[in-house]
Amino acid sequence: MTAHEESPFRAEVAQWMAANLAGEFACLKHRGGPGDEDAFPELRKAWERRLAEGDWTGLGWPRAHGGRELPVMHQVIFHEEYARAGGPGRMGHIGEGLIGPTLIAFGTEDQKARLLPGIRNGTTFWCQGYSEPGAGSDLANVRTRAVCDAASGDWLVSGQKVWTSLAHDSDWIFVLARCEPGSRGSKGLIFLMLPLDQPGIEIRPIRQMGGGAEFNEVFFDGARAAAADVLGEPGDGWRIAMALLGFERGISTLGQQMQFTHELEWVAKAARDNGSSRDALVRQRIARAWAGLRVMRANALRMLAGAAQAGQDGEDVDMALQREALIYKYYWSNWHRDLGQLALDVLGPLANVLDAGDTRRTRLQQMALFSRADTIYAGTNEIQLNIIASRGLGMPREARGQS
Ligand SMILES: Cc1cc2nc3c(=O)[nH]c(=O)nc-3n(C[C@H](O)[C@H](O)[C@H](O)COP(=O)(O)OP(=O)(O)OC[C@H]3O[C@@H](n4cnc5c(N)ncnc54)[C@H](O)[C@@H]3O)c2cc1C
Repeated sequence: MTAHEESPFRAEVAQWMAANLAGEFACLKHRGGPGDEDAFPELRKAWERRLAEGDWTGLGWPRAHGGRELPVMHQVIFHEEYARAGGPGRMGHIGEGLIGPTLIAFGTEDQKARLLPGIRNGTTFWCQGYSEPGAGSDLANVRTRAVCDAASGDWLVSGQKVWTSLAHDSDWIFVLARCEPGSRGSKGLIFLMLPLDQPGIEIRPIRQMGGGAEFNEVFFDGARAAAADVLGEPGDGWRIAMALLGFERGISTLGQQMQFTHELEWVAKAARDNGSSRDALVRQRIARAWAGLRVMRANALRMLAGAAQAGQDGEDVDMALQREALIYKYYWSNWHRDLGQLALDVLGPLANVLDAGDTRRTRLQQMALFSRADTIYAGTNEIQLNIIASRGLGMPREARGQS
C-alpha cells in the first residue's frame, strides 16, 4: 500500500476517534491500559459496542464472519491512530484478538455462528484460562481435569486456574484441561469453552502491587462445558492452545508503540517540569528510550514485510508473523520495563508518594509497577531467550525433565 492510499484511511480513523471518544466516552481517554485495567469497565464495554457500530471490530476477520478482511497495514494504522487518540484499553481484546481468530481457524460452523457475533458486536467478553499453580512457562503441566458426562456428552471441569486477566468482567472463559487420565505433558489435553456464570465456578480477585485487581484465581468444581463447546478434538487441545498463542504474539500487539510514545512523552515532560532533565544521565536515558522506540518501529515494519511476503507466497501470514516476531516480545517488554524504572527515577522521592489528585504522576507510577509484569506474561524473558536460541539460532532445545 502506498502512503497515498494509506493516508485517507488514517484520516478516517482519526476523525472517527475524535468524533466518538467524546461526550460520555471522553473520560476514557488514555484509561484502561496496562496497570489500569480496572478503570470504567462498564463504560469500556459500552465503548466496545460503539466501536462495533462504527465497524472498527474484526478488522482482519473474514467477511463471512462479520469482519472487514482489511490488509495487515490497515490494521496497524487503525491500532496506531487508536492509541494516538488515547483510545482506552480494549475490553474485547481476548475475544477479538485471541479466541475469535482461533474459532475462525478451528471452530465448527455451529460454534462460529453462535460465538463470533457476540465478540464482533462487543456484547460478549472472554478470558483466558491457561495458567495454573505449577503450569505457567511449563504450560503442558496443566492438571485441571475434564471428565465427560456419559449421559449428556458435556464435560465437567474441576481444578484451578490463576492469573486469569479480566475473569471478573468476562462472560466466557476458554480452558486447557486434561481429559485423558494418566496422560502427561502436551498429550491428552482438551480445549473447552465455558460460560462463567454457572454453579461450580468461583472467581477470586488477586490484588496487584499497583493497587488494581486485574487478574484472578478461578476455581472449577464440576463446572459444565457443553459437548458442542469443545474446540478441536478431545486429546488435541495442545495444538489449538498453541495456535491461539500465535495470535497473541501477532498483529494485535503492534498498536502499543503509540501508547509507549505517549508514556515516553509523559516521562520527558515530568523530567522537564521537575528539572531532572538537567541531569546528563537522565537525558541520555530518555534519548536511548526514544531510539529504542525507533528500533521497535523498524522491527515491526520488518515483521509486517515478512508477513506481506508470506501472504504473496501463499504462506500462512500469522505463522510468518510468529517467526519474525521472535525478538519482538523480548525487545518491547524489556524496553518498557526500563521505561518504568526511568519514570520512577525521574519522579525521584515523589515516586513513593501516592496523590490521586496528580493524575500524571499516578499514571507513571501505575505504568512503572505494571511494567514489571511485561517480562512475565505472554512468555517470560527466559522462555523468550530459549525460543530465540533454539528456533532463531539453531541451538539445541533445552533438555526437559519429567514432571
Ligand atoms: C499481568 C499478567 C497477566 C496474565 N494474564 C493471564 C491470563 O489472562 N491467562 C493465563 O492463563 N495466564 C495469565 N498470566 C500468566 C502468565 O502466562 C504466566 O505468569 C507466565 O506464563 C509465567 O508462568 P509462571 O507465573 O507460572 O512462572 P514460572 O513458569 O513458574 O516461572 C518462574 C521463573 O522461572 C523461569 N523459568 C521457568 N521455566 C524456565 C526454563 N525452562 N528456563 C529458564 N527459566 C525458566 C521464568 O522465566 C520465571 O522467571 C498472566 C501473567 C501476568 C503477569
